[in-house]
Amino acid sequence: MIQKKIITDNNEDKFLIRLNKTEKVGLITTENGSNYLILDSYEYWYDVIQDKYPSELKCKCKNNIFKLQFNYHQRSNSQDYDQIDIITICTRCKNQKTQMKIDIDYSPTSKLFEKPITFCKNPKLRFDYTEITSFWEINDVIFFLEFMKDLGFINTVWFWENNFRNLKQMDIYESKNLIKAGRYLSFLFSLNYPNYSKIENDKGFYLPGDQWKEKEIVQLRSPITILYENDQKGYLYYINYCNEYIYNYAIKSKSDDFKKNTKKIYNWFKTNYVNNRGKNCYDNKNELVRLFNNKYT
Ligand SMILES: [Zn+2]
Repeated sequence: MIQKKIITDNNEDKFLIRLNKTEKVGLITTENGSNYLILDSYEYWYDVIQDKYPSELKCKCKNNIFKLQFNYHQRSNSQDYDQIDIITICTRCKNQKTQMKIDIDYSPTSKLFEKPITFCKNPKLRFDYTEITSFWEINDVIFFLEFMKDLGFINTVWFWENNFRNLKQMDIYESKNLIKAGRYLSFLFSLNYPNYSKIENDKGFYLPGDQWKEKEIVQLRSPITILYENDQKGYLYYINYCNEYIYNYAIKSKSDDFKKNTKKIYNWFKTNYVNNRGKNCYDNKNELVRLFNNKYT
């Protein structure tokens, strides 16, 4: 295990600290107000703070200024780190506490040691993004595909074909067969065919990251299967799109045409489904009753 005391390029080592311990991201602020993200969480940080900005850490002694130390644990037979502990030391009572243990499952990891914190010009950006969740039947998926087609969207499907992942534009008929066979990873709807970033390996095409964020894409993922106490299986679908995104610490807006269409999409959900589970939850009423009896109806 290697210990590293955290000091900025300007030799500052006392910080206000904001952590989201569930999502394992954090922001530290120096006494002169400069912000740094813990490790390399730039993209993920903004996802996490859209719902809730983490509050400042406080010591039991009520002080909120800390020194920081990272402990790096190495994988056996490797130079790579598989775990980094985030440790705070209170500047008043000197209490030392392990706040988070972050698991690292990728390689190489040397950058995480050389650059343990990343300067962040603007940590508090909010962007206009939507995630809708829906308990649906298969027919609702087809209904959605038909609606998207009527709006003029191209349907590109990322799917399994003979144990390979493939990416292909499809019509409703071909999509229906895939839906029934449960062989799709996601449907990607766009007004023009976007230049998808793809990684090709022996399993076919892999689409890295959430491409619906920067590109003008509406995404419908294959559902998550949830088993309820009454032995009923529920299928929860996620629909994602955003009218804005963050690029180089600034908010970028998508085209007016795209934004006009996402508004229509949201209205379609409001018109056709019930909104009883919470914000941005639009469910098939029959499914809600089947899964939860009268809990939501
Ligand atoms: Zn203290």
